[in-house]
Amino acid sequence: MTDTCSPAVEAVPSQFLLRARQTPVYRQVDVLVCGGGLAGVAAAVAAARDGAETLLVERNVVLGGNGPLAFEIGLESCGRGISVEMFERLRAGGHVESDEAVGGSSAYDPEALKYACLDLVRDAGVSLLLSSLASDPIVENGVVRGAMVENKSGRFAILAGVVIDATGDGELAGRAGAAFREPDACSLSLNARIGGIDIEGALAARDSWPALVAAAKQTGQLDPAQPDTIALFGVTPTARRRGIAFVAGSRFAGRRGWNARDLSESEGTGRKLMRQFIAFLKTVPGFESSFVVDVAGTLAIAGARQTVGEHVLTAEEAVPIMVGANTGSEMAVPIACLKPHGVDGLLVAGRAASIAPGLHINHAALGEIAGKTAADTAADRSRIQVGVAGNLIAREQGA
Ligand SMILES: Cc1cc2nc3c(=O)[nH]c(=O)nc-3n(C[C@H](O)[C@H](O)[C@H](O)COP(=O)(O)OP(=O)(O)OC[C@H]3O[C@@H](n4cnc5c(N)ncnc54)[C@H](O)[C@@H]3O)c2cc1C
Repeated sequence: MTDTCSPAVEAVPSQFLLRARQTPVYRQVDVLVCGGGLAGVAAAVAAARDGAETLLVERNVVLGGNGPLAFEIGLESCGRGISVEMFERLRAGGHVESDEAVGGSSAYDPEALKYACLDLVRDAGVSLLLSSLASDPIVENGVVRGAMVENKSGRFAILAGVVIDATGDGELAGRAGAAFREPDACSLSLNARIGGIDIEGALAARDSWPALVAAAKQTGQLDPAQPDTIALFGVTPTARRRGIAFVAGSRFAGRRGWNARDLSESEGTGRKLMRQFIAFLKTVPGFESSFVVDVAGTLAIAGARQTVGEHVLTAEEAVPIMVGANTGSEMAVPIACLKPHGVDGLLVAGRAASIAPGLHINHAALGEIAGKTAADTAADRSRIQVGVAGNLIAREQGA
């Protein structure tokens, strides 16, 4: 039988060249920060406070990044700088408390962290563009001069003295030609916030959770891919009063936070498994009246890819910015760990910076250092000339 699909499949090219097109320039700034997680927020605030005209572009509708969106609510500062200010803002509203379910470490209210970030950015005079994706770096003579941004209004260029890639995955750095190191282990998982829990009753029976989950897996009520127990977290004094806490869903080992297919598959499977787990919860003492408040807006990511930088930050050098460090020493690290090898005009802050594996650094601190560096550098750099009628001819190659 003839395979009628074959000719059509063969006719589909694997690549094609996009034509150059006139692209409007939206703004020209000293420092452009792409990504509004903790690293990006701190970078933008630090740059603006140092006098740089700063624009922060975030693809989501809120700031704060993966932590609050994925319900990764454990947080510690490094005892200095903007990360302390974030904490103070949370504490002032009573939004950071001790999490009894995970050994008393700090747990914050995700909504409050989003507001704290927004307020910090506004107070520092940073210009903000939400719901906007930084798609491609603008590279001229080997130097990153800005980024293309896409949003509801279209596609346009933002020119900058220095660009900070705080996308968490080094998206702009990768498109500018940076190489990456992949982690030995990585995974994706989906958390959910659950209400209507009788927390006292639930915790009183917590020793029985692994057996209850195992039994449910045996009867087929739960999929074998479900977690081995009820991973309850965010059990703060406020959570106890309100009957609201969080549960961790299945962890998908080997799935990468920088890979679109891994993200999409984990999101779909994670949501399906979470629905099943929430139905199971209603059969567990203390959870009989429980309900879903919300499933996390994004996946929790463990293990980041990191840019191959001009320097890899060592454990010794990272001491002043380690989570929980509180050394009181000056917050400084070698700036070369922010610079991807072979890419000029761009600093990488946050998860994708060039850091020795396994270091639990405070990403707001690293972002702050990037912001200050960018503000200093931008002041020295000549700006790209904007062409006639405020247009830039951007050459776009590849799909
Ligand atoms: C259990 C756990 C505990 C942790 N505890 C701490 C802690 O105590 N202290 C600490 O500092 N860190 C902690 N971390 C790490 C914490 O997750 C990071 O600090 C945080 O993710 C900041 O990283 P980031 O800003 O680099 O990335 P992200 O939080 O991932 O932020 C990236 C931002 O960029 C946006 N973005 C991505 N691509 C684009 C694009 N193309 N255009 C525009 N916007 C884009 C995203 O929407 C997001 O807002 C912990 C992590 C875990 C898992």
